[in-house]
Amino acid sequence: MLVDYHMHLENGPKTLEYVEQFLKVAEKRGISEIGFSEHCYRFKEARHLLDNPWARERNVDSVSEYLELLTRAKQKGWPVKIGIEVDYIPEVEDEIRTFLEKYQFDYVFGSVHWIGDFGFDLKENIPVWERSDPGEVWREYFAILLKAARSGLFDSLPHPDLVKIYSFYPEEDLSDFITEVIGEIAKTGVCLEASTAGWRKPVGEMYPSREILQVIRGFDIPITLASDAHYPEDVGRDFDRMIPILKEAGFTEFIRFDRRQKTAERF
Ligand SMILES: [Zn+2]
Ligand SMILES: [Zn+2]
Repeated sequence: MLVDYHMHLENGPKTLEYVEQFLKVAEKRGISEIGFSEHCYRFKEARHLLDNPWARERNVDSVSEYLELLTRAKQKGWPVKIGIEVDYIPEVEDEIRTFLEKYQFDYVFGSVHWIGDFGFDLKENIPVWERSDPGEVWREYFAILLKAARSGLFDSLPHPDLVKIYSFYPEEDLSDFITEVIGEIAKTGVCLEASTAGWRKPVGEMYPSREILQVIRGFDIPITLASDAHYPEDVGRDFDRMIPILKEAGFTEFIRFDRRQKTAERF
């Protein structure tokens, strides 16, 4: 079996009909279970967890309504899991913890999209990249990723090398540093995500790279599977391309979650 645990409802109506559209595409692509992982910054109840002008503009949904909608989908017997994608900001770790304690999710993602006020994956911030030292950005990125892992707040860390999104690569070779970070992440027990979304981004390769996948495998870190679909048609997209790469790297299983309990499933 296969699952796709990373998708967003944000671009459509919050209705069962819309949820069903994601399921239909999943079924067509041989995915038997899907998980929604809405961005935490969308939720008014979590406004204080990412307090910047970009996020404030998008803080329009309700987490209670989101949970209610997906609970109704589950009650219909649909193979749906309820997740959330939280922006990990080290300074608000305690607030994130308090927020997460209030709700029952099947799994919680911790993503690094922000380095201070630099939303490095936003197109409008490419000029910031152009005047930055990529090596420095990459180091900061992986340092925050490690903090996210050590926080113990998360079940999986999405798109673990997202920092490559616009192909601003460091001049120096950071592979030893990245291997060290992944080795430390391995000690925390958190999963890392394999995602096809990178193929739809300027970098044109999956997250993470084959090199990093090998390192993850070497440390025996469990993985979750993702398309990061922001529209139904992207559910399970390129899984037929990703799964052989994962198998080639030596992976034989992926992780499923239920109420934050994980089980391993063979491909
Ligand atoms: Zn993300
Ligand atoms: Zn996402």
